[in-house]
Amino acid sequence: MEQQIETGSRKLLRRLRDSLAEDSAGQARLDHVTNIISEEMQSEVCSIYLFLDSDTLELCASKGLKKDAVHKTRMRLGEGLVGRVARDGIVVNEADAPSAKGFRFMPETGEEMFSSFCGVPIQRLGDRLGVLVVQSREARAFSEDEVYALEVVAMVLAEMTELGAFVGEGEALRALHTRPMQFHGQIGQEGVAEGHVYLHEPRVVVTNPVADDPEKEIERLREGVDRLRVSVDDMLESVGKDAVDKDHVEVLEAYRLFANSRSWMKRMEDDIAAGLSAEAAVEKEQSTARRRLGRSPDAYLRERLQDLDDLSNRLLRILTGQGGDPAAVPDDAVLVARNIGPAELLDYGRGRLNGIVLEQGSVGSHAAIIARAWVIPLIVHAGRDITLEALNGDHIMIDGDQGLVHLRPDESVITAFRDKAAMRAKAQERYADLRELPAESRDGIQVSLQMNAGLIAELPSLKGSGAEGVGLFRTELQFLARSSMPQRAELAGIYSRVLDSADGKRVVFRTLDIGSDKMLPYMKREDEPNPALGWRAIRVALDRTGVMRMQLQALIRAANGRPLTIMFPFIAQLEEFTAARQHVLDEIERERKLGHALPEKLEIGAMLETPSLAFAPRKLFEVADFISIGGNDLKQFFFAADRENERVRKRYDTLNVSYLSFIEHITRRCDETGTPVSFCGEDAGRPVDAMCFAAMGLRSLSMRPASIGPVKHLLRRVDLSEAREVIDRARESGDQSVRGHVMEWLQTVGT
Ligand code: PEP
Ligand code: MG
Repeated sequence: MEQQIETGSRKLLRRLRDSLAEDSAGQARLDHVTNIISEEMQSEVCSIYLFLDSDTLELCASKGLKKDAVHKTRMRLGEGLVGRVARDGIVVNEADAPSAKGFRFMPETGEEMFSSFCGVPIQRLGDRLGVLVVQSREARAFSEDEVYALEVVAMVLAEMTELGAFVGEGEALRALHTRPMQFHGQIGQEGVAEGHVYLHEPRVVVTNPVADDPEKEIERLREGVDRLRVSVDDMLESVGKDAVDKDHVEVLEAYRLFANSRSWMKRMEDDIAAGLSAEAAVEKEQSTARRRLGRSPDAYLRERLQDLDDLSNRLLRILTGQGGDPAAVPDDAVLVARNIGPAELLDYGRGRLNGIVLEQGSVGSHAAIIARAWVIPLIVHAGRDITLEALNGDHIMIDGDQGLVHLRPDESVITAFRDKAAMRAKAQERYADLRELPAESRDGIQVSLQMNAGLIAELPSLKGSGAEGVGLFRTELQFLARSSMPQRAELAGIYSRVLDSADGKRVVFRTLDIGSDKMLPYMKREDEPNPALGWRAIRVALDRTGVMRMQLQALIRAANGRPLTIMFPFIAQLEEFTAARQHVLDEIERERKLGHALPEKLEIGAMLETPSLAFAPRKLFEVADFISIGGNDLKQFFFAADRENERVRKRYDTLNVSYLSFIEHITRRCDETGTPVSFCGEDAGRPVDAMCFAAMGLRSLSMRPASIGPVKHLLRRVDLSEAREVIDRARESGDQSVRGHVMEWLQTVGT
């Protein structure tokens, strides 16, 4: 019997393939296909439903149902049995369909005489394309073998749809990947960019879903899997050398497990025996696994799905010879990826990408930090389907100010977008004119504007932006974008180049700030219930002093007699600061004994990122050479709202009365001891927020370079004491935030 089904199935697939070779229009081919399937499956009815839009299916061809119903009968996702197959991506097999739960009678189709119903989803790698249905008069459930054969057929139909075999007149038969689409994500980095899509992991196109010679295909599959195993073993071996990263090894072990899985292999061999080509068999299993595990509430299973998915992609690239070729990145590339790590992103190199769109990712991720360093727009959380929808070379526009991505935009969008880009460029020119002018308010208050950085590549912005110095140099990027701990000499070289490029301007080096979302791949760590409140930053440094001391030595050597400014992250109490500071003094002493040049001037500061530090003993403010408010962390702890969780983060305005009062409290405490204070969180780069901080007493702000122009522009146009009066009145008003009052006032002063 099995043999019979296999042969039958192969014959059916061969006939489908031959229909692909015929020179016929989409509708004619679709009609022909339903005839073939109904004949070979010996069912009175065979129908194909395709998506009209993401929510609606349309009957596009049928053998057995009334012809008038074709392109008329529609159902919403989840509606009736067909809608259920499409929504849940499952097979529905009913002997007595009219009495099945959810059945919806469609009188125009004449289906009342058919009892049994079997519907299977037509999908490709999670991309829902439609539903294939067979029906018959006789009230019988379709056998397992028949359902399996239908699934194989649906796989081939999916490939045919992807290849454009059914493109014809009418919306439901439109070509895939041609419609203009818009995606709304979160802003990782502002700015606008236009260009052509470059997929980090290009979609593999299967041009030969059906194969005649199963033995040859099985051989190809086995060879492919062998090569896959070797590559996984190689990867394991290479991480094995400095295997401190438990998670990475675990993932590779899972890869190895899948690559050696007999049942995975067996299923794919069965698919090939049924008539599929090796690559179509891999895709079929990949789609099935996605469907099953994608619905699983179990996080562990979902992670395994991701592993299997990655592995299947690798195997598909091996079998088809299609793969990412960094040399093929177009000049105006906009990178589109599901997610990307800092090392992979750095591989593309600065200046090669116009923008980045990620399906996942987060605003605080390191990909985001790099995009900011490269000053290219970045959208994260752009939506689940952009990597399924976009094709290499598609026209794409990113509006990083609004978090919008226009894929294959139409003329009206293109015009509006280009107008906006031109206006933006004009504004940038205006800001450039301010470069050499001080950030001085109308009433003569000067605010020092500095820039945040984390890569040497950003240092040229120091000149271009008009920043007075680097108020925050995040040192973790050099640690994160590599697979092993950097050496002291290497770090000293990097820091020295940073100081060279700063050309005498002050650079505040923040010592390694890891933990929470920033994990070093080569440093052992334990799972923590809440990493943002866990073992991070200075806590790690004081427990594992080796790395901190090595970094301090590198900084002292890089300074080589020049002034040196060091700042410690995440200080929550006085003792942490005094202990960290003592390490600096010890290392200075050590370097002195070694006869190395000592910094001409040394400043050691503390980042205020936890509310506790604002209430620290006076001694903290006396001992610290300066305080820098890390507003990103401070705000999340002040409001107890995760900085990476968009759902809660946005509820709390920076200009909230309580938060502004807290900032005022910090400036007052610093004033009492004459301790310089600055603010280096992202909010300092938002002109209105920055202006309010200045009005509350902050005289030094550090931000991304692109924000310096806009912030200076606003500061130069306002009277800060008047702004303070507006804020004070607003604080009395009982409103939660002063923003509305400030914006109203700004209108009247004509900024
Ligand atoms: C901050 O928390 O505001 C800050 C500047 O540090 P990071 O964003 O690197 O945590
Ligand atoms: Mg921080």
